[in-house]
Amino acid sequence: MVRNSPRIYLDYHATSPVDIRVAHQVMHYMTEEFGNASSIDHVFGDKAELAVALATNEVAHLVGCSPKEVVFTSGATESINLAIQGFISSEKVFKIAILPTEHKAVLDTCSALSKKGLAEIIFLKVDSQAQIDLDHLEKTCSKGIDLLSVMAANNEVGTIYPIQQVGEIAQHYGIPFLCDGSQAVGKIPINFSEWGITFLAISGHKFYAPKGVGALVIKRGQRLKPLIYGGGHQRGTRSGTLNVPGIVGLGEACRLRSMEMAEDEQRIAQQRDRLQSLLQSAIPHLVVNGDLQHRLAGNLHISIPGIPNSAVIARVRNQLAISTGSACSSGVETPSHVLTAMKLPSEVIEGALRIGLGKFTTDDEVEQAESILISAVQTIQSVLRN
Ligand code: PLP
Repeated sequence: MVRNSPRIYLDYHATSPVDIRVAHQVMHYMTEEFGNASSIDHVFGDKAELAVALATNEVAHLVGCSPKEVVFTSGATESINLAIQGFISSEKVFKIAILPTEHKAVLDTCSALSKKGLAEIIFLKVDSQAQIDLDHLEKTCSKGIDLLSVMAANNEVGTIYPIQQVGEIAQHYGIPFLCDGSQAVGKIPINFSEWGITFLAISGHKFYAPKGVGALVIKRGQRLKPLIYGGGHQRGTRSGTLNVPGIVGLGEACRLRSMEMAEDEQRIAQQRDRLQSLLQSAIPHLVVNGDLQHRLAGNLHISIPGIPNSAVIARVRNQLAISTGSACSSGVETPSHVLTAMKLPSEVIEGALRIGLGKFTTDDEVEQAESILISAVQTIQSVLRN
């Protein structure tokens, strides 16, 4: 398991280890209570159905929605696709306003629809900290758009967006509002009902549930065209036999986050701040990216100008798991679209490293990570000098 391994895992934005308490529940619903939640003729089905109902309540409790508004999916990518593709129709060209810093799940879905002539994409403005320009948002909304997509927190630089204010603006102009909550749910408070969100995408594996399970919260009364047709599960919005173990795991992870999030995130922020100051004192020209006043507790996104990030990764990769950007785009040799949208200087972009701490990160790992990183940077600096 990652947390017992001698290698240090600081890539929690990409994914998190499953909490052992969640894993026990998942296992139980795989091997003991393995019924199909749609089987109405025996108690195996009844128990699975009940487990799904309880998990639904936990999701609803964590994000402040009604259990009736929760639809389980395979993760945030599917949830986002369902929200956007399910929302639009071929009747007209839908105007969709999005942040340029959105995840590819939003960007690529919109761009595919735009290529088909079904959508027109309007990019909202962000500043050099990836923060949204609310005046520009308001102007854009006042001109009339059909759908707004603003993520709750960015997966690269950790910037937290003012979702409540965005929701108020969206509501004022009567615009349906999709919020990608993948990096935020379970890390910061979210209130779906009170914040004017219409669709909220949730990804289990970002907060200690397994990969391949997530949810889309859909405001009551809002209808979406299904992407997947079949047995009419989940009120017809998302057919397919329910992934009961995954859903139970998601529910358990939500229950634990509701209880433990505040304390865990406070400790994680302290560890992040310690790592940041250790690195800053050892590397004087280190740049910290993102909105430092509104940043995920576990996010530390740094740039060491003049030191290519690939050189650092190559030196540390067997001991320390950090990344150059989002997992989904690593391996692709293009500069991060998030850092590009922030208009950061090219040497800051080329030197960018994303460090992600989570609830299993120890103080000892923070110290070790610091010395691994500093020794890598010093070695590269001496190679570059000679
Ligand atoms: N949105 C954001 C902001 C993410 O960070 C991710 C995952 O990296 C996704 C969407 C996609 O989530 P999933 O892996 O559940 O499909």
